[in-house]
Amino acid sequence: MLRKLLFWGFAVVFPLPLILTYNVQGTAPGPLKYYIFLGLAAYSWWLLSILLSVRPPWLDRPVGLPAVYGLHGMLGILAIVAAYMHRDLSYSPSQLAGDLGNFAFYGALSVLCYSVFFMSGWLVDRSKLLQKTKRLLEIVFRRQLSVWIHRLNLVIVAMIWLHAHLLVRVNQYFAFMMLFDFYTVLTLSIYVWKKWIAPDAYLTGTVTANEARGSSTRRISTALDRTATRLQPGDFFFLSFQGSSSVSREWHPFSVTDDNQETLSFTIRQHGDFTRRLGHLEAGTRVRLEGPFGRFESIVRSQDREAPLVFIGLGAGVAPLLSLTAAHHTTRDIHLLWAVRSEEDAYYRDVLKEYESAPGSRLRVTTRVGRFHREDLTNSLPAEVISNSHFFIVGPNPAVLANQRLLRRMRVSPRRIHQERLTM
Ligand SMILES: Cc1cc2nc3c(=O)[nH]c(=O)nc-3n(C[C@H](O)[C@H](O)[C@H](O)COP(=O)(O)OP(=O)(O)OC[C@H]3O[C@@H](n4cnc5c(N)ncnc54)[C@H](O)[C@@H]3O)c2cc1C
Repeated sequence: MLRKLLFWGFAVVFPLPLILTYNVQGTAPGPLKYYIFLGLAAYSWWLLSILLSVRPPWLDRPVGLPAVYGLHGMLGILAIVAAYMHRDLSYSPSQLAGDLGNFAFYGALSVLCYSVFFMSGWLVDRSKLLQKTKRLLEIVFRRQLSVWIHRLNLVIVAMIWLHAHLLVRVNQYFAFMMLFDFYTVLTLSIYVWKKWIAPDAYLTGTVTANEARGSSTRRISTALDRTATRLQPGDFFFLSFQGSSSVSREWHPFSVTDDNQETLSFTIRQHGDFTRRLGHLEAGTRVRLEGPFGRFESIVRSQDREAPLVFIGLGAGVAPLLSLTAAHHTTRDIHLLWAVRSEEDAYYRDVLKEYESAPGSRLRVTTRVGRFHREDLTNSLPAEVISNSHFFIVGPNPAVLANQRLLRRMRVSPRRIHQERLTM
């Protein structure tokens, strides 16, 4: 909690050097100066939002990638609010600077609305109607198109940069402009480095097996060129398959299914454009892996060792829970509840039986076709388990939210509920 507060606090502090430098140098009359501060805050938050979009690995373990993306989205909203006030309250003596500012504002607002609908689950995951609408629209607005629309934010930043450079009331102050350009160049350099240069240093491997599991799931194994020493149970990577004739190079996140740092196995449900093509992925294809990311293992380790763990896997969401189970089934009391669509989709039944019957195993497994209802949980879990356990839920967003609500109704405190949603 403290780490998250510090992390959010940094967003408040980030624009201050720019604002304070302008405050010292600028001679704009009183209120106008404050409206310029608002513009500077908006610009800094857009830059910080770009910095967060590169998924800094050193931020993942302390606060988690979902929190990083959460702040990335919130900064987009805060920046729009600050930019709206800046635009509404101040005036521009240069026609071109004013036009650039206006285009940037409306551009940023459009990209924000688009991204909230297509890329975040903030609204869509909470309404069946919106989910259906999104699925229909995604026939045209596919994920890769959305990624490119989202990248228009870089053009918007360039417009605002030029807007500031055209205004005499800011461009005459050398120290301030140096700092302004430093913020911009540093952010864009980190972005370019992370997107185009850093991937050469990522983990690499070769696909060794690609097997069907159930009706629409693949298990893809990858032998790594070097050991993933930082990998922890429950972690996930962003994968890009290189040079395959059937699958594109797009980066997609998938969780590691086993507790093995040399050969990584991924359990992938095929439901969209990219995952459907994975059936044709050839053994021998080279893979690039960004990561590992994830906080489940550190949460497990930070708790009382005697407290039971309840894992709720929804479909392919069982993947990270399986690697946590592999690592802890002889040292912790674990109840693994797995909801599948059909009997055929319970493809890890044998593996789970093996863990359950291993010498010294403390694992109990309940597999169910269909969703878990309140009575399923109360029948499968003793009352003291419900009142003491830490719950880990992984699956598609709406299903995770539904299970979270169910646990809340059973008086499980939010502090004991940890979740990973299969979109960010
Ligand atoms: C942390 C994490 C771990 C995951 N682990 C697994 C796993 O172990 N097994 C598994 O089957 N699935 C997993 N997923 C989900 C998986 O990444 C998506 O299902 C997959 O990327 C969908 O791609 P698609 O083109 O086939 O489907 P689409 O139809 O394009 O997308 C289906 C949904 O996935 C979202 N999505 C698509 N691409 C991405 C992306 N690059 N990043 C985030 N969301 C995306 C879309 O917004 C959409 O809501 C995980 C997701 C996350 C965020």
